[in-house]
Amino acid sequence: MNPTLQNWLADEIQGLKDQHLYKTPRILESPAGGRVMMDGKSVINLSSNNYLGLANHPKVREAALEAVEKWGVGAGAVRWIGGTMSVHQELEERLAKFKKTEAVLVFTGGFTANSGCIPAVLTKEDVVISDELNHASIIDGVRLSPAAYRKSEGWVYGHKNMDELEDCLQRAQGFKKRMIITDGVFSMDGDIAPLPQIVELAEKYDAFVMVDDAHASGVLGKNGAGTASHFDLYGRVDIQLGTLSKALGVIGGYIAGSASLKEWLINRGRPYLFSTAHPPMVAAALIAALEIMENDPEPMRKLWDNARKWKEMLHGAGFDTMGSETPITPVVFGEEKAAQLAEKLLWEEGVYALAIVYPTVGLGKARIRTMPNATHTDQDLEDALKAFIKVRDAVKAAV
Ligand SMILES: *Cc1c(COP(=O)(O)O)cnc(C)c1O
Repeated sequence: MNPTLQNWLADEIQGLKDQHLYKTPRILESPAGGRVMMDGKSVINLSSNNYLGLANHPKVREAALEAVEKWGVGAGAVRWIGGTMSVHQELEERLAKFKKTEAVLVFTGGFTANSGCIPAVLTKEDVVISDELNHASIIDGVRLSPAAYRKSEGWVYGHKNMDELEDCLQRAQGFKKRMIITDGVFSMDGDIAPLPQIVELAEKYDAFVMVDDAHASGVLGKNGAGTASHFDLYGRVDIQLGTLSKALGVIGGYIAGSASLKEWLINRGRPYLFSTAHPPMVAAALIAALEIMENDPEPMRKLWDNARKWKEMLHGAGFDTMGSETPITPVVFGEEKAAQLAEKLLWEEGVYALAIVYPTVGLGKARIRTMPNATHTDQDLEDALKAFIKVRDAVKAAV
């Protein structure tokens, strides 16, 4: 082992610990759900993206098992070198219908969909204009592109600030192409991008729009078709990213848009070109998940019912949820130390929910991020609220 590397790793890890940024995963010992076994303890899980409970749905499990029997477990190659099975193609055709777009291209994750699509559609003559709270995978995708994008050069607008976006667009007229990119639902605050205004500005200033609907897929719009559907902007959002890993319960990401966009990404999307296709059971499970979303309104109804109930319960007890409009519900604790202590005490009370602190969010805006989903029972939510109240009192006394 190279001592220079090992010493550097040790110093950096210590640095993370000193700054309270060091992470260790807890181990889930049961299927994903509202109440789970984690690190040997039964807890209410308020941190899962399994919005609709599809990760362990009997029909989705069954489809995966049948696909293993039919296809085996691996695709054996990247998509364009014989790794595209008819089950992958069927998934893309069904997703395109669901999204009401000409075409869909599936990547192995939402992260790779961003890092594949964004640099593929940009050149050094272009500019990317971003909301300051965009997700890490958007930021990484943008960094892989040769386009202008830096905050220091004025290409990042304040969160949902449409005046600043318009100012960026006015200054960007010298570039060949202008791309506006935003989360559809913001993953830390749970608020929704003002997509109608963004689309109008884009049309006014000859820009194209990409929306990352990772947290809107299965949550917003018709049967969970996303923010473009939610705002009835069919045909006016150039590039929509969806994830297949969150509400759809399995794994994957996709880009929905025009047929020529798909053609281009097949030829220029590097994760598509150089990383192996999904196992066929993944595609089959996703088709089953999509079918449930299209035909069974119950999981989405239950998700929103629980989201509303949970917010009302928190407000009734005097908690601040920062204007969240979706199931992602931040519970404000303010000080970094307070939120971190709250996370620890909530765990002791049987609730798994993580503190989000600076630098992920602003100083003094530390919070516990909670995500009620369709698998939580009334009892789960009542027990969780009791834990939050108890923990708030303990934190007040300690900090
Ligand atoms: C989770 C997430 C992704 C990544 O999706 P995966 O399918 O988990 O790789 C991308 N964008 C946003 C906004 C996300 O929240």
